[in-house]
Amino acid sequence: MDYKLTYDQYQQGLEQGKLLGLKCNGCDAVTFPPKSLCRECNGSDLNITEIKGHGTLRTFTVIRVAPEGFTPPYVVAMAEIDEGAWVMGNLVDISPDDADMDLIGKKVKLGSQIVKGDAYSGGDSRVVTFSLAEE
Ligand SMILES: [Zn+2]
Repeated sequence: MDYKLTYDQYQQGLEQGKLLGLKCNGCDAVTFPPKSLCRECNGSDLNITEIKGHGTLRTFTVIRVAPEGFTPPYVVAMAEIDEGAWVMGNLVDISPDDADMDLIGKKVKLGSQIVKGDAYSGGDSRVVTFSLAEE
């Protein structure tokens, strides 16, 4: 299979502050984070696109018992980006003790942070984060 956007390219994009996703030539849906097929129609005719990095917080949970290598507590959230896809990431600029239902529907800005590699991964990687946007 021919990948339009490799994992390494996606990681390099994040390093440079670029959020690279894929836009479907069949249905116009944007897939982010990138996958091998369109999230809407499973089409494979995709072009690399840079998403704008804005979204709306839809749901979250506070992790108080963390897996090895992570320091609790922290907030894991899902946001619907303006391009339509739902994205998972850590909400980084809030104290987990202040996380309550008022967060739902808040505007967020996407960024990224490094997650240290562990025994189960191939080393450090960069993941999406959310921070609350000014309203
Ligand atoms: Zn599609």
